[in-house]
Amino acid sequence: MAADYEVIIGLEIHVELDTQTKLFCGCSREYGRDPNTQICPVCLGYPGALPVLNQEAVRKAVLAARALGARIHRRSYFYRKNYFYPDLPKGYQITQYTYSLAEEGALEFEFEGQKRRVRIERMNLEEEAAKSFHTDDGYTLLDFNRSGIPLLEIVTYPDLRSPAEARTFFTRLRQLLRYLRISPCDMEKGHLRADANISVRKPGEPLGTKVELKNLNSFKALEEGLRYEVQRQIQLLESGGRVVQETRLFDEDEGVTRPMRTKEEAHDYRYFPEPDLLPLDLDPKFLEEPLPELPDAKRERFIRDYGLRPDVAEVLTLERETAEYFEALIQGLTDIEQAAHWVANRVLGHLKGQAITAFPIRPEGLRELLRLVETRKITLNKAKDVFEKMLDTGKSAAEIIEEEGATVIASEDVLQTIVDEVIRENPELVEKYRKGKTGVIGPLIGQVMKKTKGSADPQVVRSLLVARLEA
Ligand SMILES: [Zn+2]
Repeated sequence: MAADYEVIIGLEIHVELDTQTKLFCGCSREYGRDPNTQICPVCLGYPGALPVLNQEAVRKAVLAARALGARIHRRSYFYRKNYFYPDLPKGYQITQYTYSLAEEGALEFEFEGQKRRVRIERMNLEEEAAKSFHTDDGYTLLDFNRSGIPLLEIVTYPDLRSPAEARTFFTRLRQLLRYLRISPCDMEKGHLRADANISVRKPGEPLGTKVELKNLNSFKALEEGLRYEVQRQIQLLESGGRVVQETRLFDEDEGVTRPMRTKEEAHDYRYFPEPDLLPLDLDPKFLEEPLPELPDAKRERFIRDYGLRPDVAEVLTLERETAEYFEALIQGLTDIEQAAHWVANRVLGHLKGQAITAFPIRPEGLRELLRLVETRKITLNKAKDVFEKMLDTGKSAAEIIEEEGATVIASEDVLQTIVDEVIRENPELVEKYRKGKTGVIGPLIGQVMKKTKGSADPQVVRSLLVARLEA
């Protein structure tokens, strides 16, 4: 049944921009402070208080617009969007409307092996509302610390065709925004939120009635909320009903969507130009700031220049900080592939999703360790052991090896001496080997490893032994 329908999804995304102060006043916008401690007459909406635009918010919004290839308006305007809600004491939100900051961008990404391109209709700067808390005993409490935090609104065209694709798009957009360092995009802190418009239709038919899904605040909620809505709308149509245009909320616990309020028409907001702000005339310097290398370009370069496998390059470029760690690490190393695997498996494995900036071993420290492997001073196994000890003790690779003493295999000369020693000490095993029982090489390797305290490379030991035994 579902296969007969085409799913049409558009997203409206809000990103809190990572500025020192709010969009129109000098209040700090630091997260997690006591309620109502970062407020002033402007963000409390006192009559007569005058907004002053935050330049840093504009700079960050413009970076995002450029990274998405959007057409940026050199002059844009702020509007009042009028509506009443307790978290909005002015009775209007300052936002952009016509003549928005930027329009007609796009994000390209890969989904299920296909190149996809989702167009961005417009990007606006606007202010965040206060945060309301509903208590169990029926009160609503308001925290105005959030009021006036700069938001970048990103509205896509309805170019998405499935809940899973919407999730991939959202993931890629978040990655891009994090690369630009304009927002940490921590979804648990509400830095990044999505609303979705979704409708279904039979192919070739006109667009179906769309439903707005609000507050899809995690990747999982976005995908599951949309999935539920696809099913609900199809079942409704199949049973002869019709979809009503409305706003619905996804209840993550129950896994269902519920109606919220009937959709206001755009004209209900009575948009009009904000008389307390001048038009935003962009200084050309905002358009000239160099963009960082973006995720796709970085991934391609890692594959091309370092010969990495695409899946490894993908892991190393998911976060800009990981890519930077890797590139700092490989300065002076020759085995790039090995370094890539150390970062992708050991370092990221240890971090379990934490940012690499929290990793206690800096690239120079890990490089020292990997240099020891490359120059065959220690074996790979020994390096893994030293790595764990570096994490446990905070000591450097050199310090740990120094303390443990005699674990460094200086050269094949030293190993050769030990091999010769073992051969002298085990005439009967040597005899057996030479009569064809080549399996006895195992115990011989074992003895060499024991004398080197396990720090020799077993492959090297084996070839040295074989050379002697077959001489
Ligand atoms: Zn303020």
